[in-house]
Amino acid sequence: MTAANAVQTFIDTVDAAAASYMEACVHCGQCARACHFYETNNDPRLTPIYKIEPLIKTYKRHKAPFASLRRALGLVPAEITEDELNEWSELVYDTCTMCGRCTLVCPMGIDVAALVRKTREGFVAAGIVPEGLTGAAQRALDIGSPLGIKPETLRKIVDEQSQEVGIPIELDKVGADYLVVLSAMELLNFYEVIGALARIFKQAGVSWTISTEAYEATNIGIQMGDKEVARTLVGRIVDAAEKLKVKYVISPECGHAYTALKWEGPNLVGRPYDFKVVHILEFLDQLQREGKIRTKGKDTRRVTYHDPCQIVRRGGVVKQPRAILDTVSDGFVEMSHAGVANICCGGGGGVSSNPRAEDYRLRAFASKKKQIDDLGDIEALVTSCANCRNVIEEAIDEYGMELPVIGLVELLADYLEPESDAGEKAKLAEA
Ligand code: SF4
Ligand code: SF4
Repeated sequence: MTAANAVQTFIDTVDAAAASYMEACVHCGQCARACHFYETNNDPRLTPIYKIEPLIKTYKRHKAPFASLRRALGLVPAEITEDELNEWSELVYDTCTMCGRCTLVCPMGIDVAALVRKTREGFVAAGIVPEGLTGAAQRALDIGSPLGIKPETLRKIVDEQSQEVGIPIELDKVGADYLVVLSAMELLNFYEVIGALARIFKQAGVSWTISTEAYEATNIGIQMGDKEVARTLVGRIVDAAEKLKVKYVISPECGHAYTALKWEGPNLVGRPYDFKVVHILEFLDQLQREGKIRTKGKDTRRVTYHDPCQIVRRGGVVKQPRAILDTVSDGFVEMSHAGVANICCGGGGGVSSNPRAEDYRLRAFASKKKQIDDLGDIEALVTSCANCRNVIEEAIDEYGMELPVIGLVELLADYLEPESDAGEKAKLAEA
């Protein structure tokens, strides 16, 4: 029965695009070298296209052209079994971050990450999902946060940050222009970003708020392949944004949250939004270009930038972080493969929420470490995804490296022109 549920979901989920991807594979194996899990394990099972074998076999058996005729002639793969699903669970959940890098090198343009998502949907139907992910999904549904951050905790954090920077932050403000949603990891580990946003938005004159009903953009449903969970979580943000009558929702420094909210959200909820979604880096870049952000001084350390996969490859946010970095850093250098071809941190796509995948995740970091080491003496690494930041910090520790990891929003806030300077300039202008 378990395997039958997966088979039926595989059949239902294969649309024209997925079918043409599976038909197009010429088994050249080029995708393997693009995958940091394959590269750091040298295991042929970790070849990207092989990770979706249960989906391919089911497609060939039930849905490919002439499948019924070929089935009658015994020319199709055998039906997928529960044992096979259990065996593949590691390949589908522990060794793929759905980073999409393999697609860049595939001569046939096959979107393996999208096929992994569809494969995960079958695993959800079969109930074969790593515990770390099911637990996170339950917390997200019950509490509103996969990491268990309750609204009372949010209130405390916001209050603390408001006092820290001396700027009032109004929660649930009806009629604000912008609704800020945060990533779960920001609220757990990097909540200083709230104070940083308050300082930047004050200088830029932005009217903004945070909802106590939908404060996290992290979408565990997208990661585990559970459309119902994904729909519920996106729906909460849509409801909150529409209730507060905001014009924009700002997606945070988080990779997959942007994909979930901006690209997949309207399809999940089944209608266009009454508001626009903008990534925080796009918004800061826009404010900077409009002259609404004024900075003073620059960071002189030799720093590099880690592009989060979903933001750079799926989101197209490539130039904006570099424009911001140019404003606040004198020592910025690009790592190899920077931009759309960047190598994943190893913990996206739910891998970091899955304790079973820890060894694979830490081994995969060797590819990122090589990018860093190739630069020589780097004094800090900047990124714009709290999950990447956490995964990289943990791996840096594990590998015995010394390298501070900094969020780009916080770095920008560190170099904002002090209010006293702005006051002086205004007085001079009046005189
Ligand atoms: S999407 Fe990324 S992690 Fe997954 S198979 Fe492709 S390269 Fe590997
Ligand atoms: S690179 Fe593309 S065509 Fe080649 S094996 Fe991988 S998915 Fe198939």
